[in-house]
Amino acid sequence: MIVMKFGGTSVEDAKAIDRVACIVQGRLEKKPVVVVSAMAKVTDTLLTMARAAGSGERKTALKLCRSLQERHYNTASELLGTALFTDFHSEIGADFEALDELLRGISAVGEITPRTTDHVASFGEILSSKIVAAALAARGITSTHVDSRDVLITDMTYMQAVPHYEETDARLQARVAPLLLDGKVPVMGGFIGATRSGITTTIGRGGSDFSAAIFGAGLGAESIEIWTDVDGILTTDPRICAEARRIKLISFDEAAELAYFGAKVLHPATVLPAIQKNIPVYVLNSRNPGCEGTRITTRPPHGKNIFKAIAAKKHITIVEVAAPRMLLAHGFLRAIFEAFERHKVAVDVVSTSEVSVSLTVDSHHAIPALAADLAKLADVKYEGRKAIVCLVGENLRETPGIAALVFRELADKKIRMISQGASEINLTFVIEEDEVPEVIQRLHKRFFSELDSEIFA
Ligand code: ADP
Ligand code: ASP
Ligand code: MG
Repeated sequence: MIVMKFGGTSVEDAKAIDRVACIVQGRLEKKPVVVVSAMAKVTDTLLTMARAAGSGERKTALKLCRSLQERHYNTASELLGTALFTDFHSEIGADFEALDELLRGISAVGEITPRTTDHVASFGEILSSKIVAAALAARGITSTHVDSRDVLITDMTYMQAVPHYEETDARLQARVAPLLLDGKVPVMGGFIGATRSGITTTIGRGGSDFSAAIFGAGLGAESIEIWTDVDGILTTDPRICAEARRIKLISFDEAAELAYFGAKVLHPATVLPAIQKNIPVYVLNSRNPGCEGTRITTRPPHGKNIFKAIAAKKHITIVEVAAPRMLLAHGFLRAIFEAFERHKVAVDVVSTSEVSVSLTVDSHHAIPALAADLAKLADVKYEGRKAIVCLVGENLRETPGIAALVFRELADKKIRMISQGASEINLTFVIEEDEVPEVIQRLHKRFFSELDSEIFA
């Protein structure tokens, strides 16, 4: 069997869902499980709606809910035609009634908690998966909608829930595997799950990729296909650099670094369950299904280029902790990291000197409180509007003098922090956020103008 995951833009409207049906039709003999994201932008709208309700703006929340309802109804009726839509209408109508009621409840209380946020956010994938299942059925594919909340069992960390793999795998065997044996195509929402007691959770933004990988690993898939709106993993973000080219083959490690450092095309956690079971992951374009995409595998050939890709992660803050009094004192780093832990702020890049430590974190509302806490230990400064740039490639391991090559290109730029060696396959540095386009374009021109055709398209 295989898992086919379609992202938000791949199910954004009736035309897109029609394309999905054609793609699935062409893969039926591989026994696909279809995993879908919410229709494009729907999760953002749901979260806006939840916040509006939480601050007592009931009218705004309900108005947004009605526009979402209209979009889903229009899409479904266009896909199903009048006769089929009449039956289907009541099914998603009940979801919108539930959402409406939920929003009224939230605005009456005037408070939004992570738990209710997840409840609201889950409607995007609940609705899209029902619509896609119905659209496949209307096109003669024997599909069955499976509610992911009956399958993906998680802990109670709302908005960032962690899967309980054993239980999830057991549910996959009990509820999904028999459908495949029956020749059915299960259609499931990504991103959403539930606790053991059935409370709705979500596994983090962009998490549908992760769901696909969890389902693929649990069912022993022969491959996992991530269908999106670009031809695969590209040498850099095509919105920043139009010259970005397709990478044909990339290692799990390289893909994981890229995803972690901002290549939005893949959720970082996706590759983990796949690596553990050695399941190849493909990134493919639902608007151009004939293109062979990117294959992520354990040991792709290295190729002649030093780097595979460049990623950038914006909205970064640098926190500098300087403690002359604690010169060489042991326990200093631990105390610093404990403060980050207490405020639940994750650190990306770290560089230390004898007397100071610089760390980068995603810009976060908790930073002022964290800084106040750190100020008890040392002198603290923080500065936002930074970006991490990350060059990735397995060849970095063996090639000397790479940093010199890179920074020669950026001689006129202020480089704040540099880190190479932690993973051996990336070179990472911090710059001003507004310099990202120029820096990426320059590096792309320098390192990706001539490409090894075995690795790049
Ligand atoms: P989906 O809705 O399918 O999950 P996303 O918007 O999450 O799609 O991810 C796809 C987008 O990621 C692309 O449209 C592209 O703009 C962006 N992107 C950023 N970096 C890269 C990269 N290195 N390769 C391909 N796409 C990238
Ligand atoms: N719909 C969710 C989001 O927008 C999950 C996903 O698309 O992967 O974050
Ligand atoms: Mg995505």
